[in-house]
Amino acid sequence: MGEDPRPDVLGMEPEELKRRLAAHFEERDEPRYRADQVARWIYRSDVRHFSEMTNIPVPAREALEEAFLLQEPEADRTSRSNDGTVKHLWKLQDGELVESVLIPSGSRLTLCLSSQAGCAMGCTFCATGWAGFDRQLTAGEITAQYRASLRWAREHEYGPITNVVYMGMGEPLANRASVHPSLTILNRGFGLGARRITVSTVGVVPGILELAKRSEQFGLALSLHAPESELRRELIPLEKRYPLPELMDALRAFDAAGGRRITFEYTMIRDVNDGPELAPALAELAGELRAFVNLIPYNPIPYRDWKPSLPERIESFRATLEERGVEVAVREPRGRDIDAACGQLRGNALAQIGE
Ligand code: SAH
Ligand code: SF4
Repeated sequence: MGEDPRPDVLGMEPEELKRRLAAHFEERDEPRYRADQVARWIYRSDVRHFSEMTNIPVPAREALEEAFLLQEPEADRTSRSNDGTVKHLWKLQDGELVESVLIPSGSRLTLCLSSQAGCAMGCTFCATGWAGFDRQLTAGEITAQYRASLRWAREHEYGPITNVVYMGMGEPLANRASVHPSLTILNRGFGLGARRITVSTVGVVPGILELAKRSEQFGLALSLHAPESELRRELIPLEKRYPLPELMDALRAFDAAGGRRITFEYTMIRDVNDGPELAPALAELAGELRAFVNLIPYNPIPYRDWKPSLPERIESFRATLEERGVEVAVREPRGRDIDAACGQLRGNALAQIGE
């Protein structure tokens, strides 16, 4: 991003990377196979600099350094929860702060990454939404969160990252120019199966339709939070632009295109969207799409005095959904002690540095 004129190797789709590297070596009368060697260093190792690529002659490493950018953000802060969840606050080249979270669970290690610095959607229950939008992340800044987290996980014996979710800061489908290539890079470059990558959206209809057209089976999580348009509008301003019926059409298209089973995210806020009469409406929407429903107790944020739903309300929702044949899980938020929910660590850091 910004001033460095060198192309960012972590932001190029693997085919383009190899083509550019091959052209680079050819120009310098070096064998073309060096392109594959470099690509292997990038995707199959976690070296930080071209200078560490030991099977490349030293002058060729220097030439690479001049021609390309291999760059990762610095960890401004790393917090580790009692439950093993780890949150990184990354400082980007221009000083922007974004976060990613590593969530271990059994044999899985899920990375939750950010797609934007801030978010323009303004959802009323979300700390990132209140903090506003700063800028888009580049594809390289998205995949660099993965590569840097991979190294952290290896160094701290967390094992390999098995799943990636685009559920950190930002609305991924409002940054499709970077998110599409980043999906390709994680999948075909780093070799993470498409079925292990999930994009979470608040309902950007054109983005859902674009994702449906891709041949890979990336997962889709839809942040629903209300089964009726009127209530949803109070929580999610985007509902005015893409109302529920239109959104459901897009989800049907995603489903019909042979995509993976859709997940509905439903954050349960006490006396706001947890009325028992809403559960059958939710069951109907989910049932039609055979969607999986995650019920998530609301994580309080400083901007609202809302509380999470009482456990009996959550249980009643769960039971209603189950009775109607909908698969449902109640997700306890992870890493509460380190504020690992959407956008919160950055919020705290900003408060501390007085912005
Ligand atoms: N913009 C995308 C992805 C990032 S938000 C989206 O909205 O889907 C990731 C998830 O965290 C979303 O499901 C969002 O609704 C949820 N979330 C945001 N603030 C929350 C809060 N205070 N408590 C619980 N979940 C929250
Ligand atoms: Fe943005 Fe998602 Fe937060 Fe809404 S919930 S403000 S879309 S990050």
